[in-house]
Amino acid sequence: MFDNKDQSRTSLSDLGEFGLINHLTQNFTIRQNSTVKGIGDDAAIVNTEGKQLVVTTDLLVEGVHFDLSFMPLKHLGYKAVMVNLSDVYAMNAEATQITVSIAVSNRFPLEALEELYAGIELACSIYNVDLIGGDTTSSTKGLLISVTALGTAEPEALVKRDGAKDGDLLVVSGDLGASYMGLQVLEREKQVYKVNPNAQPDLEPYSYIIERQLKPEARKDIVELLKKMEVKPTSMIDISDGLSSEIIHLCKSSKTGVRLYEDKIPLDPQLINVCEEFEIDSTTVALSGGEDYELLFTINQDDYEKVKGNPHLTVIGHITPESDGMNLITRANTSIPIVARGWNALQDEE
Ligand SMILES: [Mg+2]
Repeated sequence: MFDNKDQSRTSLSDLGEFGLINHLTQNFTIRQNSTVKGIGDDAAIVNTEGKQLVVTTDLLVEGVHFDLSFMPLKHLGYKAVMVNLSDVYAMNAEATQITVSIAVSNRFPLEALEELYAGIELACSIYNVDLIGGDTTSSTKGLLISVTALGTAEPEALVKRDGAKDGDLLVVSGDLGASYMGLQVLEREKQVYKVNPNAQPDLEPYSYIIERQLKPEARKDIVELLKKMEVKPTSMIDISDGLSSEIIHLCKSSKTGVRLYEDKIPLDPQLINVCEEFEIDSTTVALSGGEDYELLFTINQDDYEKVKGNPHLTVIGHITPESDGMNLITRANTSIPIVARGWNALQDEE
C-alpha cells in the first residue's frame, strides 16, 4: 500500500499542454450517441434529443479531499468521476458525459497522470460515459481535480429534493458508514508507517471498508432498479456528507419532518466490528461519516410492496408533517432531534 515503487519518470514539461492532453486522452473512446463532438474543438457538442440536461461539478483538492500517501492515483481518478456521477443518479438521470480539469505541480511525472487517467477511463467504460473535454494547468503545489458530469432524463423522470410528502417512506440503498471507518483505518496505518516504515499492515480484516473509501461506486444500478420496479421516488439525494445532513436537506427542501429508526439503519458487519475496535458508536458513524455515495430517497406508501425485501434497499423511516420535526427514534425508543454535524464535527469530537 505505501510502497514507493521504482518508476520511470517523464517530466511534464517535455510534452507541453496540448501534447499532454492528447497523450492522456488517446485511449478514450466515445460510447454515447448523444456525444456529437468530444475533445478536439473549441467546445464539445451534446445532442440531448429533447431530454432535460442535468449538470453537476465537484472540485477535489490534495490535502483537503484526498491523501496521496494511501490513495493510489488510479483510484483517485475513478473516485473523482464517481462523486460526480452519484449526483447525476441522485436526480434519477442517466450520466452521459464528463469533463475533467486538473492543476498539477511539477513534482508529478507523466506516469502519475497516466495512472490518474487510467482510473478515469475505467470509470467511463464501466459507467458508459464519455470524456468530452477539460483543461490541464500547472499548480505551485499539489494536485487539484475538477470533474463536471452531464446527464439526461425525460422531464417527467427527474427527481428533486423537494417532493417528499407526509406519510412517504424513507429508503436508503446499500449500507452506511463504511467509507468513513475505512479512512480511519488508513489514517491509523499511515501513522504506524511513519514510525516504522518496515511494518507490513494486515488490512484483510478491513478490506470492505477500505474499498468503500478508496473505490466507491455510484449507484447507477439503483436508478435502473427503480425504473424496472416502476417506482419513481418522490424526492432523492445522494449521501456524500452523512445520513443526517442529507435527511435534513430532503426535509428542509420538502418542508416536512421525519422519523428515522436507529435499528433500521443498514450497517455492514465489518463496519460494526471496526467501530467496536475504535470504540466509536456505529450509529454516529452512519449519521455523520459521509462519502457513502448511496442514494437516499422517499417513496409513496403504495410502492412499499415493490421495494419490500429487496436486498439493495432498506426502509429506514417515514416522512411526517414539518411541525413534528426531524427525529431519530433510538433502539431504546426515545426520540432525539437529528442534527447535521458532518465528518468535520465527528473528527473534532475525538
Ligand atoms: Mg449530492
